[in-house]
Amino acid sequence: MTTQKPQDTPPLADRLASFIGRKGATLVSPDPVNAAMIRQWCVAMDDPAAPEYAASGTAPAAMLQVWTMPGWKPKPSGPDAVAELFALLDAEGYSSIVATDSEQDYLRPLQLGETISATKTIDTISDEKKTGLGVGYFVTTHIDIVDAKGDSVGRQLHRVLKFRPPVQAATAAVAPAPAAPQARRPRPNVTRDIAFYFEAAREHRLLIQQCKACGSLQHPPWPSCAKCGSFDMGHQAMSGRGEVYSFTVVHSPVVAPFKPPYNVVLVRLEEGVNVISEIRGVPNDQIRIGMQVEVDFVDVDAGMVLPVFRPATGREKLPPLIFPLDRSTIVATALATRDYQPVHHDPDYARAGGSKDTFMNILTSQGLVGRYVTQWAGSGAVLKRTAIRLGVSNYPGDTMVMRGEVVSRKPAAGGGEEVDIAVRGSNSLGDHVTGTAVVVLPTQEKNP
Ligand code: ZN
Repeated sequence: MTTQKPQDTPPLADRLASFIGRKGATLVSPDPVNAAMIRQWCVAMDDPAAPEYAASGTAPAAMLQVWTMPGWKPKPSGPDAVAELFALLDAEGYSSIVATDSEQDYLRPLQLGETISATKTIDTISDEKKTGLGVGYFVTTHIDIVDAKGDSVGRQLHRVLKFRPPVQAATAAVAPAPAAPQARRPRPNVTRDIAFYFEAAREHRLLIQQCKACGSLQHPPWPSCAKCGSFDMGHQAMSGRGEVYSFTVVHSPVVAPFKPPYNVVLVRLEEGVNVISEIRGVPNDQIRIGMQVEVDFVDVDAGMVLPVFRPATGREKLPPLIFPLDRSTIVATALATRDYQPVHHDPDYARAGGSKDTFMNILTSQGLVGRYVTQWAGSGAVLKRTAIRLGVSNYPGDTMVMRGEVVSRKPAAGGGEEVDIAVRGSNSLGDHVTGTAVVVLPTQEKNP
């Protein structure tokens, strides 16, 4: 005896399963690869390589997905299992969408004038998951990107979360109770003697006061030299490497906004001067005297950047990229990547879907990873792959700082050197993007 009548709709799980392996519509780039879109993308991404792309007649690799984006007011383009799947999830109440992962392999640089097309295939649909955004399904697709001859030019794995937006207040007339103001971190007393230290921190540099007369370093800064008495004081850039000289873990008293237990660490910089700070990236019970550490910088709240330390990896670091997230930039980068989803330009729409505000789109996050690594690698280098996962959103008014470090170097199959780079872009809320990039550097010219 079954309770299900034959005419009943099958369970959602079965209907979702029927989509596995089906394809979306093939999207043909509405415009061939062109200099105007490349230049606009470079401006929005603050990519200094625009003249090099113009000279070589090639497109930034990380623009791969941009060319076939449907754009503003797209026309339906034939049968599309991905659209059908999303329509089904919409109808079941999973009406919000957010991209979570994207992995792109760049098989060759795209040339000006060529037309490419992209076809999406549905690989997997997760069980219903509880997430920080709401209950929903992760849908993983792969995209095959081919040129006019049908030869593969790139591959992409793409994952989105289709989720139920949180229930909104029944009426907007009832204003929500204002949240209790969050305690801000105490402001440092910034005198003329110490201003350089915090100004440098905002640029992610660690400077220590140095006497111009006798060269000794001292910290905290002071109007005169403790060694020779000179008032002629300057400052000097530090390597950022050091070791834990002493530390304590504070459990009490509780002083907002500090949440106990937290550590307070005295780091001896390799230049020989001590700095009080904190260690992140290691549990408090694993901090040890003598532990090798290196400096990092965190935006503790708007306008205040502090040096902290992390366990040393000993890896080669890329210089940080500081990317301000003003409202216009969020919109400009969405449009430069031909992404017209309203969550990236319409604050009311974004809030109705449960977001705090508009937020940066994933094509921009991935584009910035590509542009960051490419700038470091220099001209002649070829970006082969970027793989990213998104965390907290990039909202207007914040700043994202992207950092990278070299994970490995090895000879590339076709000559040159293949470099694996770990990348992390963080804002005041935490990590926005984490991932890896692979770039092939040209073989170094040897002097005869
Ligand atoms: Zn001195």
